[in-house]
Amino acid sequence: MHADGGLPAFAWDRDEIRRAGYRVVDLIADHIADLPAQPAFRPVPTALATALVEAALPRDGMSVDLVLDSFANVVGKHPFGNGHPRYYGWVNSPPAIIGVLAEAFAATVNASVAGGNHAAVWIERQVLDWVKQMLGFPREAMGLFVSGGSMAALTALAVARHVACAKNGLDVRSVGLQSATRLRLYKSAEGHGCNQKAVELLGIGSANIVTVPSDAALRIRADALDELLTRDIAAGDTPLAVVATAGTVNTGAIDPLDSIADVCARHGVWLHVDGAYGAPAILTPQYQAPLAAISRADSLAIDPHKWLYVPVDAGVILIRSASAMRDAFSLVPPYLRTDGNVAGVQGPTWFSEYGFEQTRPFRALKTWASLAHFGTSGYAALLQHDIAMALHLAELLRKDDAFQLWEPQSLSIVCFRAVPRHLRGNEPALEALNRSVLNEVQLGGEGFLSSTVIDGKFWLRACVVNPRAKEPDVDAVFHAVQAAVRKATVGGHSPHPSRPTPG
Ligand SMILES: *Cc1c(COP(=O)(O)O)cnc(C)c1O
Repeated sequence: MHADGGLPAFAWDRDEIRRAGYRVVDLIADHIADLPAQPAFRPVPTALATALVEAALPRDGMSVDLVLDSFANVVGKHPFGNGHPRYYGWVNSPPAIIGVLAEAFAATVNASVAGGNHAAVWIERQVLDWVKQMLGFPREAMGLFVSGGSMAALTALAVARHVACAKNGLDVRSVGLQSATRLRLYKSAEGHGCNQKAVELLGIGSANIVTVPSDAALRIRADALDELLTRDIAAGDTPLAVVATAGTVNTGAIDPLDSIADVCARHGVWLHVDGAYGAPAILTPQYQAPLAAISRADSLAIDPHKWLYVPVDAGVILIRSASAMRDAFSLVPPYLRTDGNVAGVQGPTWFSEYGFEQTRPFRALKTWASLAHFGTSGYAALLQHDIAMALHLAELLRKDDAFQLWEPQSLSIVCFRAVPRHLRGNEPALEALNRSVLNEVQLGGEGFLSSTVIDGKFWLRACVVNPRAKEPDVDAVFHAVQAAVRKATVGGHSPHPSRPTPG
């Protein structure tokens, strides 16, 4: 069956790579170009899902072309939806095509970027430097590409934990947390859940998360933070870190970073800024000022796979103190540490000394290629476009009194809910209505929204991180929402509110 003495062809020859590769390029081009004519989303049919999970492990391999057929026939037919111009769910962008192509080339060189003296290491260092410059972070800071904002938070809080324990004379890496003082993390209710996961994983326990009160715009109250820190420090607790958010995932709210940085500096507490979604907006004139103080963070998370449109996964963590980062992770004892050998095999200090991963993917290339291609001015224009589309949607909602818009609207997120006159004041009925509208829109295929809970109420939510979205697309999604509201309230009857559970 296999020509080469029974071995399957492993390293294909140039012509075979070209033939199969060009077919993949055709599939990519068709997929991207055909998406707008497809539904924004359609669930995988149950029969197909069952067939997929039950398919037998192949014993005899199949031809390249049969493998590639399923790219088009299965994978491409049921995408997540985020490549589509009318998809505004969660924080999921369409991929920058340059990043798609970069991903294939990164896999081609197949580098482990633990360290060494190969191009991938220097590309990662270069793009980390670019990200620092873009965000106003000092050049001496260290950073890493990680899988996303969640790993960024875990990495940052692990360093913060090491530093906080060291201040108490404790080497948390060797003795663990058994004898530590009580460590506490400060964040608002709007802070992303990944911070809670990190705190749980780091052995601090979610019971030690202190929820800092927010103002009416859902931004941390720096005065309240100050009081909480004063209280807890006086009581003998050790603040692990304050998490401030530069663009919350619910409403895009930007915490008052400068005031929070002042409070943290006064108490000597680590400031982690979660800019996973919002940090790139520092490139736009209207958000430059509110985001300027992200440069004061001890650690800063940004997700190129969100508002820089880099294909998933691409997260970045920056840590102001390179030595703290290394102390928290390196297994090379301090007396053996070197700055590497930039002329030799070893290259600069290995990335694996600064984080948890050893073998690391070449995530940096797709971000490097995208930044190189668009430049900061190109990105500024793309971000402005997304913000303009969000403002356009907000304007449509403002003009229609059957809807309530969450204000202040921020960044490229728009939260709203249908509030038809006959249901006003009836919260269970409003929630039931908006839930059914969401379901209708998501399954209708005309557009895609997600939802959130603000102030205990259910809201529809659009997040435009999507340069493919044009005004007629936003209009079409709005009309789909209006139609879904009409359908759910036909004849002026309220939809059946879900029965409140007793107790
Ligand atoms: C998405 C997001 C995260 C989590 O990042 P992942 O890349 O999903 O791990 C954290 N914080 C904010 C504000 C986010 O938008």
